[in-house]
Amino acid sequence: MAAPEIERLIRLLARLPGLGPRSARRAALTLLERREQLLEPLAAALAETAEKVTVCARCGNLDSSDPCGVCLDPKRDASLICVVEEVADLWALERSGAFSGRYHVLGGTLSALDGRGPEQLRIATLVERAGDPAVKEVILALGATVEGQTTAHYIAERLQGTEVSVTYLAHGVPVGGELDYLDDGTLSTALKARRPA
Ligand SMILES: [Zn+2]
Repeated sequence: MAAPEIERLIRLLARLPGLGPRSARRAALTLLERREQLLEPLAAALAETAEKVTVCARCGNLDSSDPCGVCLDPKRDASLICVVEEVADLWALERSGAFSGRYHVLGGTLSALDGRGPEQLRIATLVERAGDPAVKEVILALGATVEGQTTAHYIAERLQGTEVSVTYLAHGVPVGGELDYLDDGTLSTALKARRPA
């Protein structure tokens, strides 16, 4: 058996997405064999990330400042809010360069099965932000899954009677934690072809 420190490292690595016990053991071994190039820089990066990176209280993005860089950037279009499920979706949209407004990260979807109601998601703060007269459009870039669409309809209903127009990404685009897998062109097209709720 390996030392308890190594066993602990393997157990933690195995909890990462895409890593089972076998690949976690290989990753741990690689780290230990490349102490200066990998293990020590990674340990420092983890400590620094844990200390500095926080959730933006306004939009739910992850950044080392709160409000985050996107919320603070005066060059971003304050009239557009793009609602996504996860930070990974925000990153995908940013990589595509197709969107220049601001974001709102819900932190998941409504799911009766998993006991996730509106209180578990950042919906109240979204409604509050949408009430700002500067905001003209809320784009719902949520998953094409049942949960994603249920969540989108719920939000559209909550925003009824406000001044903002609510739009969806072009139909049939798989989004919601899956924007990550789309190429930039598909994402841009889906954004341009958005339709009213
Ligand atoms: Zn933010």
